[in-house]
Amino acid sequence: MSRIVAFETTDIRFPTSLSLDGSDAMNPDPDYSAAYLRIVTDAADGVDGHGFVFTIGRGNDVQVAALDALAGHLVGRELEPLLDDMGRTNRALIGDSQLRWLGPEKGVMHMAIGAVVNALWDIKAKRAGLPLWQLLSRMTPDEIVALVDFRYLTNAITPDEALQILRDAEPGRAAREQELLTTGYPAYTTSPGWLGYSDEKLARLCREAIADGFGQIKLKVGADLEDDIRRLRVAREVCGPDFPIAIDANQRWEVSEAIEWVNALAPFGLAWIEEPTSPDDVLGHAEIARGVAPVRVATGEHAQNRVIFKQLLQADALSVMQIDAARVGGVNENIANLLLAAKSGVPVCPHAGGVGLCEAVQHLSMFDFVAVSGTREGRMIEYVDHLHEHFVVPTDVRGGVYAAPLAPGAGMEMKAESRAAYEWEGTRVGV
Ligand SMILES: [Mg+2]
Repeated sequence: MSRIVAFETTDIRFPTSLSLDGSDAMNPDPDYSAAYLRIVTDAADGVDGHGFVFTIGRGNDVQVAALDALAGHLVGRELEPLLDDMGRTNRALIGDSQLRWLGPEKGVMHMAIGAVVNALWDIKAKRAGLPLWQLLSRMTPDEIVALVDFRYLTNAITPDEALQILRDAEPGRAAREQELLTTGYPAYTTSPGWLGYSDEKLARLCREAIADGFGQIKLKVGADLEDDIRRLRVAREVCGPDFPIAIDANQRWEVSEAIEWVNALAPFGLAWIEEPTSPDDVLGHAEIARGVAPVRVATGEHAQNRVIFKQLLQADALSVMQIDAARVGGVNENIANLLLAAKSGVPVCPHAGGVGLCEAVQHLSMFDFVAVSGTREGRMIEYVDHLHEHFVVPTDVRGGVYAAPLAPGAGMEMKAESRAAYEWEGTRVGV
């Protein structure tokens, strides 16, 4: 038996707003940040667990405090019972009634729980000597179903239905794992399309994206229609008539405005419109989906939990589901999201970028391919070429594909020297 002896949180902020990397219609000055967690044990193996919540600067004032509020659930606890039943561990964390009042299961408290759950999975995977995607995809269907909290989901998917999906995928697991190790998982890139970039930089980065082998690019839109038309024209000229170009409005529009704006841009050929309006507006997304068809609606990076994903699917409000490794309640809830998508036959193309989101979410897509949906058809993981050098196991994206990570762990561990160098030394609100 070993015990958790420390629950270390760190406020880490990168000054990315200086270069307008990450700028979009709603976030003009993002400083990519991580409310970072390290779980330390007294085990002789020296393995520690790393997780974080991605924020964009002052959000860390609140997010680090939310993480700290969970320390009492972990410090002093025996580790093995927590790791042996991650379904129960997850339910215990989301079941703290005093903290649950703040959600339930949404916002900063829920994301903090996600970081804890992910850090525990990091320890579990390291102890198993496996990358997270491989650890998950070698669990039995029954073990995987036991990870998921089906509360509020059973009118869309029952545990028995989930079990059947996983059992149906079981015979092909070994072959798909080999295929993944050989050919990787497709990526698309958002690097060319930040709103703060000049047309010249946009054109250059489009050329580079194609030369690098990416199968799709994405442009930020939504601040000014004339600018969007001009930038899409630039991108379309560089990329050619058939290359997939998605657009992302980052929640900028009213419902009717979204329909008009997307239809005005549709002649340029759009792979999807992402986050057209409020991420909570399920019926608004459904109205937009009907109003802009055949352009597909993509959303999910701000979907606060599995219940919102359930409703988006029930309402035919999305055609592309974008899970995020650090938004919901961690690996367990994202398995619920993958199962919901598999039941509906909707492709999952995860949100990534930020800091460390690519490193983390690739494990979920690879697990999905091997053990859940069983396909990469129409699926790809977002890729943004920022800040990977700070991670112990940085993504390996070449030729437009993510190579499957082989190092043990869940992928969220940032180098100690980077954590020290970018620890926020400003004053937190209220401190
Ligand atoms: Mg987005």
